[in-house]
Amino acid sequence: MSRDHSALGRELDLFDTSPLVGPGLPLWLPDGGVVRGELERFALELSLRSGCRRVHTPVLAKRGLFERSGHWQKFAADMFPPVRVGDEDFVLRPANCPHHTQVYAARPHSYRDLPVRYAELGSMFRSELSGVLVGLRRVRQISLDDAHVFCRPDQVVAEVRTALDAIREAYAVLGLEIRRLRLSVRGPGGGHLGDDDRWQRAEDQLREALGDDEHEIGVGEAAFYGPKIDVQVADAAGREETLSTVQVDHVQPERFDLHYVGEDGRRHRPVMVHRALLSSMERLVAMLLERDGGRLPFWLAPVQLRLLPVSGDRHGEHARALAARFAGVRVDVVDDGPLPRRIRDARARRVPVVAVVGDAEVAADALAIGRPAVRVPLAQVQARLAEAVRHREAGRIRFD
Ligand SMILES: [Zn+2]
Repeated sequence: MSRDHSALGRELDLFDTSPLVGPGLPLWLPDGGVVRGELERFALELSLRSGCRRVHTPVLAKRGLFERSGHWQKFAADMFPPVRVGDEDFVLRPANCPHHTQVYAARPHSYRDLPVRYAELGSMFRSELSGVLVGLRRVRQISLDDAHVFCRPDQVVAEVRTALDAIREAYAVLGLEIRRLRLSVRGPGGGHLGDDDRWQRAEDQLREALGDDEHEIGVGEAAFYGPKIDVQVADAAGREETLSTVQVDHVQPERFDLHYVGEDGRRHRPVMVHRALLSSMERLVAMLLERDGGRLPFWLAPVQLRLLPVSGDRHGEHARALAARFAGVRVDVVDDGPLPRRIRDARARRVPVVAVVGDAEVAADALAIGRPAVRVPLAQVQARLAEAVRHREAGRIRFD
């Protein structure tokens, strides 16, 4: 069984590329669209539950926005070249943060309103060269489950903890294990924006938020505008990679001259907490696919239940009527071809629950599930699957 997510994605009809569209720009096919739709819905629920409000911002902006943020200075080599329109340069964004500073700046804020939290499943762009592009792991357009919190300095630690809690909750649902937390700090070589004092403060706040949580230090792994906590997971080969991040940033609020009105009636500088809970849709799906050889958690499977009539002629109609009785579950019926082949195909598709319908099952209002087959009353299957959908279950669905 192949564990490479690109091969799995093609084999399972989840995504593909087109030479006309170009490398590093994967196309999500309808089954991949189901997986991504579920993840996006989950990401949205999670962000709303942790206090975010949703915003929408454009994928491009005047070059000046990124000069101000520092991206142009630090990151230009990874950005697509500017497009000239009239007498202005526009660029595809390499990150969503600068746009979110302008959402914040669009309205005045008082100390009483903070924190404000903006969430957006935003697209950002990297001008990676063709040679390094791999499936969903190295792509030119990244869809990040992103949020930015603007808060008072005394709220930073609680905000970082809230983000870490939301990450733990998300991983439990996805069946992902955190291998370790990494506190990523500046390297000795410089290359970061902002003064030492701001960096030290941000590091101290992250340390305080981590508290007794075990973590390692990643020297030189910080973002150019601030230190961060990286949530490290193991890929299928046991290699460690960063999935989610929480960053504390005292630099961008300064560069964009953001402020709020304090209790003393004067202008104060907010702190920005960047948080990516589920990481990017691309990286997350690559990871989930490779982890279990293409077998996705039940709640993400494009088809969750496949019904196989023993004979299309005799039981096909009945199976289709049954399919309609599973509200909220993705069910299909395949009645074309020999049964053993259809069973093999369903396994190859990693359909989590495969049920056979023959004379005995029609008579008993039941389904024959698994190998060796167990006859399970229909009402029990309905109840079990409805529960698995409701709880977003990741594990194998059993009926014994
Ligand atoms: Zn950000």
